[in-house]
Amino acid sequence: MNLDKGRALVCGGAGFLGSHVCERLLLEGMDVVCFDNLQTGARANIAHLLRDEAFTFVEGCVCEDLPEGPFDEIWNLASPASPPRYQIDPVGTLMTNVVGTRNGLDLARRWNARFFQASTSEVYGDPEVHPQREDYRGAVNATGPRACYDEGKRAAETLCFDYRRMYEVDVRVARIFNTYGPRMDPEDGRVVSNFVVNALASRPLELYGGGEQTRSFCYRDDLVDGFLLMMRHPDPIEVPVNLGNPVEVTVRELGELVHEMIGTRPAYVSRPMPIDDPRQRRPDISRARELLGWEPRTPLRLGLEKTIAYFAKDAARRRQSEPA
Ligand code: NAD
Ligand code: UDP
Repeated sequence: MNLDKGRALVCGGAGFLGSHVCERLLLEGMDVVCFDNLQTGARANIAHLLRDEAFTFVEGCVCEDLPEGPFDEIWNLASPASPPRYQIDPVGTLMTNVVGTRNGLDLARRWNARFFQASTSEVYGDPEVHPQREDYRGAVNATGPRACYDEGKRAAETLCFDYRRMYEVDVRVARIFNTYGPRMDPEDGRVVSNFVVNALASRPLELYGGGEQTRSFCYRDDLVDGFLLMMRHPDPIEVPVNLGNPVEVTVRELGELVHEMIGTRPAYVSRPMPIDDPRQRRPDISRARELLGWEPRTPLRLGLEKTIAYFAKDAARRRQSEPA
């Protein structure tokens, strides 16, 4: 169904967040071109959208040729997001974020399209300021194993604001904090998926560095609401905006909650703390509240309930498709 609300390109549209963005844009009546090299995304995430004639999937890499316009909106979510995944090919990760963002911005310039950039709380590195406001400039180790992602995303932000200043591209830059929910890849190594998948299989949870580091977890629907508010805001947004849930927990507390909700006996193994792993992270979302009237609504317990149900169903489906 095409309600003639315009045409969007979603780079990284077959991933966890990107597939939800595609869904929401289709619901709004847009034509959607999803562009993805399936490095960390999956056809299964968009299989249900392929029946919609307003939806097209094009397989390809953002560092190469992007699909041809016209486009009214370009959404750039293309980049592996989980630390173990983005560290498999660090040079590729950096290039995806720098060259891919530049290609997207060039296309936006050519078609006068609004451009969304999925930036990250990782631009703050291992922060000395807590909670993190957008005017904090961060503490990234430029030469460590996380730098391919952190510096790639920082350079991508620089490109966005330079394209705004030089060519008046209407950019919207969201700094996303840890987000979870159904359709996360069970094997991509992020803490929520690891904990839920392992607890469901009655395996111990791995606590890196003892689990005293903190994160603030946002449910994906709340986050995507924030994305849409940013992109639909009538005025230019000339600054990056933190999007995340300010409720902070330690990794160990997250593990305890997962065990309690699944009903498994708490069991943990200790693993070394990964290099440069941020010790604390919590967004200050005053800017999002003031500019967009946005704040997350889903409590961690409710979001986890839906996520656990998703992974339980996914595990059952995988077991059924295994050869006897
Ligand atoms: P994801 O790995 O599920 O999705 C990323 C998608 O980009 C995948 O479908 C992948 O195949 C695709 N991709 C990667 N490199 C590409 C390339 N060179 N060309 C084309 N496609 C490519 O991760 P996600 O959680 O959905 O994250 C989406 C975006 O949001 C990423 O840019 C990520 O950095 C950002 N982000 C996510 C979180 C989070 O907690 N989920 C936090 C901060 C930022
Ligand atoms: N973590 C953990 N066990 C796991 C996976 C991750 O203790 O099985 C820790 C990780 O070291 C980090 C936090 O959980 O401190 C969040 O990790 P994730 O990879 O989800 O996101 P990020 O580090 O990018 O915030």
